[in-house]
Amino acid sequence: NKQVILRDFVTGFPKESDFHVRTSSICLKLPQSSKNGVLVNNLFLSCDPYMRILMFQAYVPFPIDSFTPGSVIYGYGVARVLESRDPNLKEGDLVWGVTGWEEYSVIEETQKLFKIEHLDVPLSYYTGILGMPGVTAYFGFYDVCCPKKGESVFVSAASGAVGQLVGQFAKLLGCYVVGSAGTQPKIELLKNKFGFDDAFNYKEEPNLDAALKRYFPKGIDIYFENVGGKMLDAVLGNMSIHGRIAVCGMISQYNLENTEGVHNLMNIVLQRIRMQGFECFDYYHRYSEFLDAVLPLIRAGKLSYVEDIADGLNAGPAALVGLFSGRNVGKQVVAVAAQ
Ligand code: NDP
Repeated sequence: NKQVILRDFVTGFPKESDFHVRTSSICLKLPQSSKNGVLVNNLFLSCDPYMRILMFQAYVPFPIDSFTPGSVIYGYGVARVLESRDPNLKEGDLVWGVTGWEEYSVIEETQKLFKIEHLDVPLSYYTGILGMPGVTAYFGFYDVCCPKKGESVFVSAASGAVGQLVGQFAKLLGCYVVGSAGTQPKIELLKNKFGFDDAFNYKEEPNLDAALKRYFPKGIDIYFENVGGKMLDAVLGNMSIHGRIAVCGMISQYNLENTEGVHNLMNIVLQRIRMQGFECFDYYHRYSEFLDAVLPLIRAGKLSYVEDIADGLNAGPAALVGLFSGRNVGKQVVAVAAQ
């Protein structure tokens, strides 16, 4: 059983060498002690920015436990059931949910797994557009942002797993949408593939405030926040009255010892901005509503999804740490086994 192991807790930016891949022997049977568990063969693993938070030694209030140095790391994935003691799952079923970064895993918390029913789309989509990032983008945009047709929307980390969907949802609703990303090919993707009205490379803008004023001369009605730090500060200075900020994440801050100061907070008062954080977990009970809305859009070709698929567990650590330098183009996935 090939496995990805965290060597030790991480400070600063994570590196490929913070992990190693080992092969251990495994009995391909559920242990006697397992009550409702399943033995699965992992097919796709999802690289997600929150996984950095699980590498801290200090306690972080998060619904998923921190990683243990010397042990297998875990995250969202798609897997095939090989053996089951859960009456709702049987051999051959496909599921998505939290699993180990290894070829075979025993999962005890089967109530947290989602059974995959629709197989006319790529299976890897259940790590992205039809999995956790999809739920995040859908409810984060429609529920948290309360968007209206014609509003101006800004999305940061816009070409990633979540951002590319938020931008497309906003376009489908008839909003004016601008995204930021860190390379020119990503900017082209935003404009030409996902239909953003405009996009800019934040790394090439000496003054983020001036850039935002250029794209939003009348102000930003909705900001879908993925990065935090300097970008948040610049956005706060450019929000419209009664603007809304959905705080999905702040990836620019995850590797810093001390978070960067934000100076424009008083604008929350002056512009009557509503800024709300949210977690995808709060919306999992509405997964079938999400599927009913998003599956037809995929089937009708109205929603695109770009994935960046690394081949094999050996490539997993580089793919995971690559999120923090923007190496991924689209949703970063690791393909573990042939389907
Ligand atoms: P992405 O697929 O967008 O990958 C991360 C991207 O972030 C990189 O490709 C890079 O793109 C960008 N990035 C990395 N470092 C920085 C930085 N210092 N400043 C600006 N951009 C940076 O990730 P996801 O779409 O999966 O996640 C996006 C955000 O959403 C994250 O903050 C994540 O934590 C959050 N999230 C929150 C959830 C929730 O429930 N609240 C659930 C899922 C995700 P670039 O080339 O553009 O720099």
